Amino acid sequence: MEKIIGKKKVFVISHSHWDREWYMAYEQHHMRLVKLMDDLLDLFNKEPRFNSFHLDGQTIILDDYLKVRPERRSEVEKRVQEGKLRIGPFYILQDDFLISPEANVRDMLIGNQESKKWGNRVNLGYFPDTFGNMGQTPQMLKLADLKYAAFGRGVKPTGLNNQVFDNEKYTSQYSEMWWQGPDNSKVLSVLFANWYSNGNEIPIDKAEAKKFWDEKLADAEKYASTDNLLMMNGVDHQPVQKNVIQALDVAQELYPDYEFIHSNFDDYLQAVSKSIPKDLGKINGELTSQETDGWYTLANTSSSRVYLKQENTKVERELENIAEPLSTMAYNGTTDYPHDQLRYAWKMLLQNNPHDSICGCSVDDVHREMMTRFAKAKEVGKFVARDAIATLANQINTSKFPQDSKPFILVNTNGHEKTEMKTVEIEWERALFADGKPEDQYEAMKQAQNDLSEFKVIDQTGREVPFDFVSSDVRFGYDLPKDKFRIPYMALYITIQLNLTAMPAFSWKVLALSKTNQIRKPEVKQYYDADERILENNWLRVSIKDNGSLNILDKKTNREYDNQLIFEDTGDIGNEYIYRQSVDQKTVLSSDIQAKIKVLQNNFLGAKIQIQQTMMLPESADARLEYERQAVIDITQRKAKRSDKLVPLTITTVITLSKNADQLKFKTSFNNQMKDHRMRVLFRTNLKSNYNSADSIFETVKRSNHVSDSWKNPTNPQHQQNFVNICDDQGGVTIGNLGLNEYEILPDNNTIALTLLCSVGEMGDWGYFGTPDAQCLGKFTFEYSIAFHDQSIMSQTETYQQAKTNQVSIQSIQTSIHTGKRKPESAFMTLKSDSFAVTSLKQAENSSGNILRGYNLTQNESSVDSNILSKAKTVNFIEEDYPTKSLNMLEPAEIKTYKFSF
Ligand SMILES: [Zn+2]
Repeated sequence: MEKIIGKKKVFVISHSHWDREWYMAYEQHHMRLVKLMDDLLDLFNKEPRFNSFHLDGQTIILDDYLKVRPERRSEVEKRVQEGKLRIGPFYILQDDFLISPEANVRDMLIGNQESKKWGNRVNLGYFPDTFGNMGQTPQMLKLADLKYAAFGRGVKPTGLNNQVFDNEKYTSQYSEMWWQGPDNSKVLSVLFANWYSNGNEIPIDKAEAKKFWDEKLADAEKYASTDNLLMMNGVDHQPVQKNVIQALDVAQELYPDYEFIHSNFDDYLQAVSKSIPKDLGKINGELTSQETDGWYTLANTSSSRVYLKQENTKVERELENIAEPLSTMAYNGTTDYPHDQLRYAWKMLLQNNPHDSICGCSVDDVHREMMTRFAKAKEVGKFVARDAIATLANQINTSKFPQDSKPFILVNTNGHEKTEMKTVEIEWERALFADGKPEDQYEAMKQAQNDLSEFKVIDQTGREVPFDFVSSDVRFGYDLPKDKFRIPYMALYITIQLNLTAMPAFSWKVLALSKTNQIRKPEVKQYYDADERILENNWLRVSIKDNGSLNILDKKTNREYDNQLIFEDTGDIGNEYIYRQSVDQKTVLSSDIQAKIKVLQNNFLGAKIQIQQTMMLPESADARLEYERQAVIDITQRKAKRSDKLVPLTITTVITLSKNADQLKFKTSFNNQMKDHRMRVLFRTNLKSNYNSADSIFETVKRSNHVSDSWKNPTNPQHQQNFVNICDDQGGVTIGNLGLNEYEILPDNNTIALTLLCSVGEMGDWGYFGTPDAQCLGKFTFEYSIAFHDQSIMSQTETYQQAKTNQVSIQSIQTSIHTGKRKPESAFMTLKSDSFAVTSLKQAENSSGNILRGYNLTQNESSVDSNILSKAKTVNFIEEDYPTKSLNMLEPAEIKTYKFSF
């Protein structure tokens, strides 16, 4: 017995890493899941010594299974409650970086709710396959009430005898380590140093078992910091090993000095945490394989199939920043909030957020199905938002407006003030089908259109607001009253444009379109000088050069930024995971081409200038690439070049400078007919800095502009959410984007390269999977922006906030003239903070109060000023009480969730 003391314990955890969709369509994987679960439930009946099965950290697997086998629900329930099936804590296994902070929270929140329906969740933040890990994970897990983390990528284990230097933040001598976030939260973490398959397919034959265990035990011991060794019995889509208990009996016989335990994460982690050594290493912040050769960081998945990223961003904004805040405002203090509809939409969206899905690194069938899910989630969001804004409009008093005017409500649903040149459509007159034949009504409205006179736009005091008449239109419309049959009609619509300046967070105002007898004096002020090709307002002076590139003077700092907005096209012979430039390194730049310039708008509201460049680009890679794909030649060994055949690509960019904005907005479109290439837009900052700051998950992450000594990849792609910034001690440049998640800092003058589109023809990874859709042929539009700041943090964070609010337009709806309890110009709440980036305003899950969440954009202490604070407490991600030191103070990089009611 004395030998048992000090015996090494081998914890064998049976699992299957379940990519719901990847190199096969969802249903192909799904049908295999049914078999896995059937086998598993049968095994629980047959083999009482089978401790448990780890269900991959995601509860959606249970829904997937029960869709096909609803009759086994009670069996599943029983096994979860017995601890045989270990479920949760997440809803899906997401990609950290490509989904919003809030999507990450909802994955945890819904995962927790789903787990609770069944029983307990595993107390482990599980990121086995995630392509790099977000820096705020330690704080986020704490806020999700999860004690441990496990992950497979991002850190290089160095082995027992390798020294770990203090300055190496991304290596660890052990497979267990402390992981510390930017707010100094720490979580005990396990790296799958020998991957999450190191105990897969354990042999039962003695000779084979000896060979297997000699190797596997040595590998595990090389990194383990304690006498508790982890063996992961499973891998991607692995069927359950039915004889694993017999295999462990064989192992026990062969290795009496070890204790083999068929186990689970809860027991393993408890054992580890009791015996961690004092010298356990610490890693910091985000883990993106900084200390590797740089080829397999998989960061290029941030630009693979860019249409997915664009759609994902739009749906996230629709749910997080439009539907939820509008519903919170409209249904405050009531039970009318559409919890179930929103959760349904969130689940639909989250189904697109697993790492193989949102990363765009699956086969075409998978990504086609995703587009349907995006559309469904978006439609639910639009429906909820429309209902909510109509409800809110009905609560707002519009009775002061003249009876013959048409009032409309404008709502800023952002948690920060917003300035926007806004286009609004107003229904001016309506002819019901009930009152006449459709064609007669159409004619009547056409007549009304011809007779239109002058208009004015007024606020609730009757004061005129400057606007521009854009167009009028007659077309069919219908109402769907909640208590009556549908009402079809013809209507005359009028479109106007106006500048909304510094609308406060979560505020609204009512304006109205009204007839006037006075002929409007056209305002003469213009913001574009066509002769000099200069766009100018109080903040910026932009000169457009012959080749379409820009020279921008930031008047705040009196600094000039030359060579902005240059398009760069290079060959791509890689795959959906990794960009690999063609070996000829043939690069085409728009700066070598004459641009055509056209004025689209130039009036007192602002200017829109169109720049058009036609680039001659290789139609694809040369023929060698097809051979290299078919022969599964590693992308680092490929030799393909670009084709000699050139075809034209016309790039159209609309630049907007509005009267009151201190930023330039860009909308670039083209019809991509080339294959095997990458298109980026370049902004040369010319600033001396060793770092850049990028918008990540609940974090503005500071990254080096330089690579480590071990780095071999000629490129250094990085992830971003809404913006990337470079600055020196005098100020800097922020490039905002809508769903363009990849950037790179080029050594040439610290140029920010923003990837617009990547075209590749194969999935990559472990074989050849052709993906014609990943060539991204067809029409694309890309939205991005540039803003400048001075040396103050406030000025810098303002450009960050602006990049965020650029993604969410001010919402509007027409309303009638009626009384209401809310004022015509007011706000749901007051909120002021330069550094507090709001991610969510929603009703609490249990309906008793509202939730406001955000985080500190900076590494400095900051504060929040709001009228909710006196009625608020702080809660965590799963909305349980979570007291913090102070309600209004923000610690560096702190994430804060307020629960409040009015
Ligand atoms: Zn995976």
